[in-house]
Amino acid sequence: MLRETIRSLAEAKIAPHAAAVDEEARFPREALDALVASDLHAVHVPEEYGGAGADALATVIVIEEVARVCASSSLIPAVNKLGSLPVILSGSEDLKKKYLGPLAKGDAMFSYALSEPDAGSDAAGMKTKAVRDGDFWVLNGVKRWITNAGESEYYTVMAVTDPEKRSKGISAFVVEKSDEGVSFGAPEKKLGIKGSPTREVYLDNVRIPADRMIGEEGTGFATAMKTLDHTRITIAAQALGIAQGALDYAKGYVQERKQFGKPIGDFQGIQFMLADMAMKLEAARQLTYSAAAKSERLDGDLTFFGAAAKCFASDVAMEVTTDAVQLLGGYGYTRDYPVERMMRDAKITQIYEGTNQVQRIVMARNLP
Ligand SMILES: Cc1cc2nc3c(=O)[nH]c(=O)nc-3n(C[C@H](O)[C@H](O)[C@H](O)COP(=O)(O)OP(=O)(O)OC[C@H]3O[C@@H](n4cnc5c(N)ncnc54)[C@H](O)[C@@H]3O)c2cc1C
Repeated sequence: MLRETIRSLAEAKIAPHAAAVDEEARFPREALDALVASDLHAVHVPEEYGGAGADALATVIVIEEVARVCASSSLIPAVNKLGSLPVILSGSEDLKKKYLGPLAKGDAMFSYALSEPDAGSDAAGMKTKAVRDGDFWVLNGVKRWITNAGESEYYTVMAVTDPEKRSKGISAFVVEKSDEGVSFGAPEKKLGIKGSPTREVYLDNVRIPADRMIGEEGTGFATAMKTLDHTRITIAAQALGIAQGALDYAKGYVQERKQFGKPIGDFQGIQFMLADMAMKLEAARQLTYSAAAKSERLDGDLTFFGAAAKCFASDVAMEVTTDAVQLLGGYGYTRDYPVERMMRDAKITQIYEGTNQVQRIVMARNLP
């Protein structure tokens, strides 16, 4: 039922704008409005904080169905989970009440600010600092590649509070867009997910009350990594959706397009490609759903499964979308058809929330 609901909403209200959102590299406002109107913009927020209380699998299905028509728009529910999960996992009751309510209502979005210009895969090498000043913390630094920066009201920011201790000297904070000293860089000009703004966040003497710290001092990096164990599954969901959108489009196209006097779908060479695409996609889906169940149960092998689902599903999405372009021939290579956009959008799923090389490092360290 959930899938049917979100699919019909996505096809009616989000799909019609997907090409223009990509072409104009503009934020998918129509998608945000439609998702908020149906209470699907941050489904993971627990009911006690005013949310829909969707479990990890239901959240995956929402993201998957939005990504099937528009990958940029799927970053609304995905990044709302990424940004707020540190608060849900480690925040005080007061922080949860203060920040999850507006998120659930659709009054505010939540971003996640871990990466920096010189700290990507090696996120613990960050330089952003937070220095205690009485009942306040003062933050200074630059966060880079922050999804939905400028659009979000709230930011989970990881910053160094004790430079001697490396990852154990990093703490997490909630920073608000309206805090004095917060500003944003120009939107990055990207290959894909062009509708999702990616910007730098500048923190210039941002003075915030001490109770904005998420969890204890020095636990920020652990919270950030625990968050990714859960949210890499949402990137797998995004990859599945993008790949499904491309497969569905190609499946229809091969029945219409005629060469040598018959639909190209009658050729076995084409049928075998579609069979492989569907087989790989279904394998990725099963791994992702199984990881989502582990996320919900907080199973001990979640770290492996979160990394495996993200890595496998994103590699499959890249293959399937590239094959979809191939199945449309020259037409697939043009912006008159949606599959080249899907191929460009798929690429990011192999890069963010840890590159697929980093996922392999994580898997190797956590073999089941
Ligand atoms: C569109 C977009 C949105 C993003 N959104 C966010 C966001 O909302 N919040 C956030 O905090 N970050 C975000 N990121 C950042 C993203 O997570 C990083 O780009 C990613 O982790 C890689 O870091 P890097 O770009 O610095 O690459 P690098 O770390 O410089 O990596 C370069 C290459 O070296 C490889 N590499 C590095 N170390 C190793 C190793 N030990 N072994 C093998 N290979 C290695 C990498 O896999 C990669 O291929 C986003 C990035 C993009 C592009």
